[in-house]
Amino acid sequence: MRIEVAAATLELIRGDITRQATDAIVNAANSALRGGGGVDGAIHRAGGPAIMEESRRIGRCPTGQAVITTAGDLPARKVIHTVGPRWRGGDSGEPALLAGAYRRSLQLAVDNGLSSVAFPSISTGAYGYPVEEAARVALRTVAQFLEQNPGSLELVRFVLFTQDDLCIYEQTLRDMAAQ
Ligand code: ADP
Repeated sequence: MRIEVAAATLELIRGDITRQATDAIVNAANSALRGGGGVDGAIHRAGGPAIMEESRRIGRCPTGQAVITTAGDLPARKVIHTVGPRWRGGDSGEPALLAGAYRRSLQLAVDNGLSSVAFPSISTGAYGYPVEEAARVALRTVAQFLEQNPGSLELVRFVLFTQDDLCIYEQTLRDMAAQ
C-alpha cells in the first residue's frame, strides 16, 4: 500500500529492514547503542562490525532521539539509530517519545542529504508498545513531517515484519486517509 503526501511517497510493505536499499534504514536501538535482539541484532549481523565501531564512538542516544552511522555491508547508505520508549501503560509520555523518535530520525535523514528512509515498527517488539497505538503515532508523525517539510524527502517506507503488523498499519493508514 502507498499514498502520496505532499509530493512524497509513504509506503507500507512486509519485509526485512536489512534488505532495503533506501538511503537510510532506521534501527530500533537502545540508549546504550550496544546492540540487542530484534531489528537491532539483525542490522548488526547483516551490516558487520563497522556499525558497532561507529556506535561506540558516538556513545549513547537518549529515548526519543536519533544518531546516524555508516550502514557497513548493508545495501542502505546509512543507519539511523533511534530509541523508542518502553511501554509502561501509556501514561508515561510514551506517545510523545515515540513521535520524537520518528521525527528526529526523519530530520537527521534530511540534514544528511538523504531522500529515502525505511522504518521498522519502533517499540512494538521487546519494548511492548501496542501495535495499533504505535501505528497511529508512527503514521501520523511521518505524514505530518512530510506535510510540514515538502520536498525534503521522496520516500518513507515502513517495513513490517509480520503480515499481522502490515494489516494493522494498512488499516490505520486507511482510517487516517479517510479523515
Ligand atoms: P523495540 O525494542 O523498539 O520494541 P524490536 O526490534 O524488539 O524493537 O521490535 C520492533 C519490531 O521490529 C517488531 O515488530 C519486530 O517484529 C520487528 N522486526 C524484527 N526483526 C526485523 C527485521 N529484520 N526487519 C523488520 N522488522 C523487524
